[in-house]
Amino acid sequence: MIDTFNRAITYLRVSVTDRCNLRCRYCMPDSGIERRGHSDILRSEEIIEICAAAADLGVTKIRVTGGEPLVRKGIVPLCAELGKLGVELVMTTNGILLAQYADELKQAGVSRVNISLDTLNPERFRELTRGGELSSVLRGIEAAKRAGLSPIKLNAVALRGINDDEFEKFRELTLDGTTEVRFIELMPIGEGKALWDKSFYTLDAETLPERMSVIAPISHAFCPTCNRLRLTADGKLKPCLHSAEEYNIRGLHGNELKNAIINAANSKPKQHAGLTSDNPSESRRGMSRIGG
Ligand code: SAM
Ligand code: SF4
Repeated sequence: MIDTFNRAITYLRVSVTDRCNLRCRYCMPDSGIERRGHSDILRSEEIIEICAAAADLGVTKIRVTGGEPLVRKGIVPLCAELGKLGVELVMTTNGILLAQYADELKQAGVSRVNISLDTLNPERFRELTRGGELSSVLRGIEAAKRAGLSPIKLNAVALRGINDDEFEKFRELTLDGTTEVRFIELMPIGEGKALWDKSFYTLDAETLPERMSVIAPISHAFCPTCNRLRLTADGKLKPCLHSAEEYNIRGLHGNELKNAIINAANSKPKQHAGLTSDNPSESRRGMSRIGG
């Protein structure tokens, strides 16, 4: 078990690709991200080896993310291998390809999915994602429910002027009891930095109905209870989402790999400074290259 500041690190978020089939304005630059060579990205065997080492060290939950995880070739067999590690296996996806993959993911051992969806208005969705089709995500949500990838958690970044009038529409999605909606505070990281002053808003968690909540990294930073490490698609461990610090663990094996994971966990900062537009994230990567 990796203990740091009296906290066990039990949760690993694994980005399996930097690529994405959407370009959300708060996450991805208009030009997309610089294309990397195939060899810059961890192979499936490498991801499995790192996750197995982490599981040996006490990690009990792995989240597959990206970029968009479902655009990675071979994502289902990769999940099937991760599913054999005896950890809770979950995924965060934008849902565009989920209708196609939901059943196979469930069979591969993914227990549930978080689906990112910021607006239920097709025009706004197209504008915010630079061309995405809301209907594909809605089909993905239905397929995920049928496949039993539940409870479905919908993550909506709270964006002033984009979805601050959609509370009731999101609430309707929760009424059949299958779906939770979580509003995430916009963070000044990557593309979010430039949008933050104009677009940040939050909701009062105390007043929200059942199955609706707020994830509040800005107004209630959860650093003291953060139990996670992040693995980037190019093989770096990030002890803290908002720090520039990264540890390259690609090419390490056995005890060397495990020691590097422990070192990264031990360098987790106690707390990062409060985030604002004047004091944005120190991460050199935007969210699409970290995995949310
Ligand atoms: N493509 C997948 C998706 O959209 O679910 C997984 C990767 S995406 C980077 C993971 C999460 O990060 C999404 O829920 C997205 O909304 C969130 N995210 C991206 N940029 C953000 C920002 N600046 N502030 C808050 N959340 C952000
Ligand atoms: Fe892609 Fe997810 Fe970033 Fe949107 S939030 S651009 S879907 S990685």
